[in-house]
Amino acid sequence: MRSSRVDALADAREIEQAQSAPALIGLIRKQLVRGFAWLRFASELEQAFRADNDRAARINRIALLVIATLVLLLSPLFDMAYFGVPASAAFWSRLLLVGVLVPVTLAALVWCLRRGESRATEFVITGQFAIVTVGLLANHVILNRYSADFPIEFVGVGYVAVVALGRVRSWVILPVGTALSVLTCVTVAGIVNASPAEYYHLAAAGVLALFATYLQYASEYVLRRSWLDRQLLQLVARHDGLTGLLNRHALESALATAHAHAVRERNDYSLAMIDIDKFGSYNNRYGHPAGDEALRRVAEVIETHARRPLDVCGRYGGEEFVTFWIEGRPNEAEEHAEALRAAVEVAAITHETSDVAPVVTISIGLCHVEQPQERDSLSAVFASADALLYDAKAAGRNCVKVGLFDRSETRDEENPEAAG
Ligand code: GH3
Ligand code: MG
Ligand code: MG
Repeated sequence: MRSSRVDALADAREIEQAQSAPALIGLIRKQLVRGFAWLRFASELEQAFRADNDRAARINRIALLVIATLVLLLSPLFDMAYFGVPASAAFWSRLLLVGVLVPVTLAALVWCLRRGESRATEFVITGQFAIVTVGLLANHVILNRYSADFPIEFVGVGYVAVVALGRVRSWVILPVGTALSVLTCVTVAGIVNASPAEYYHLAAAGVLALFATYLQYASEYVLRRSWLDRQLLQLVARHDGLTGLLNRHALESALATAHAHAVRERNDYSLAMIDIDKFGSYNNRYGHPAGDEALRRVAEVIETHARRPLDVCGRYGGEEFVTFWIEGRPNEAEEHAEALRAAVEVAAITHETSDVAPVVTISIGLCHVEQPQERDSLSAVFASADALLYDAKAAGRNCVKVGLFDRSETRDEENPEAAG
């Protein structure tokens, strides 16, 4: 079974990969404007929200079921101490509470402990709530037969508890809660021989059910709103506003993770530093807004060349980008980089003042790391890629220079900042 952290990362990647960051940001903004009074998001967001919610709810659900088990186990003691339940009624009542409701609650608890992050858990919680409520009503009927009391408010208390801790969606819990409220009324008014005072107890249970309904709607609304805000904030904090690629901060942390993963798995990888050629003169000729548009288009091409599951790409700064590819052999990496270079040329973004080509081009310095080891520092790999980029520029630009990472040349103080 995967850990929750791995799941969370996988989901974050899934949603980010299914949609580019700007598209996702647009989707979230649209959802915020449109609102979600019916407690439902657009389907891409809804799936991610539900997965996150199930993960976050696990501990609360476990607490709910532990408390429910204790209350059910302790209630016979309470009966004995305060209600003087006759022995004949006590047998059936305790058989129901301890023999049926406690095992059902424990089974739900075991599910939450073992598979608590599964999307079915909200149905397990709702099922447990329904069975326990029906059980409490049956207990009321049994005790009533022997003229003993049952505080019917407990049905309402259970409803409030499941709403407060269960984190089940309103669309699941409210219909079940409403049906059980009706069943409670039918039991008190029609099945048992209720005293007038018991209608006060029923009213108290009804008030609790009303609170539960409001609490359910309001808390899910707030939960959804803060989830949208958090997603938006994370996306905006991690992505470059112009190109939508990872920004410098997020890129560095994604590269550190990718490098550590490659070291652990002994996966060969390549790190490419990419720099747009003669971009200063592009800005001078066409103006900065056109420069921005060209940057966006080049970024789009780069992004389409780094879409495999472990690929990383981002904007390093200005008109410089970095990609990280897991590759088996250096010539595979070179082919990949060459395809990227050619794709930018084919994008045919006119650049009249470049002495390299009549269109915007890029130069790439690509460092291939074979059998990465713990002592290989990412900054040393950066420095090698940077030196290769410098070679590509010196060789006339619009080309790829590839080199193998040379451990003998590694110096810790090398500086990855000075690309391009
Ligand atoms: P070289 O081929 O040697 O890389 O030449 P270059 O002109 O591309 O290199 P230089 O470092 O001299 O210029 C980079 C230019 O990139 C300068 C700056 O105006 C432009 N630039 C950096 N970031 C942005 C941006 O966000 N938008 C726009 N429009 N231009 C940018
Ligand atoms: Mg440049
Ligand atoms: Mg540069």
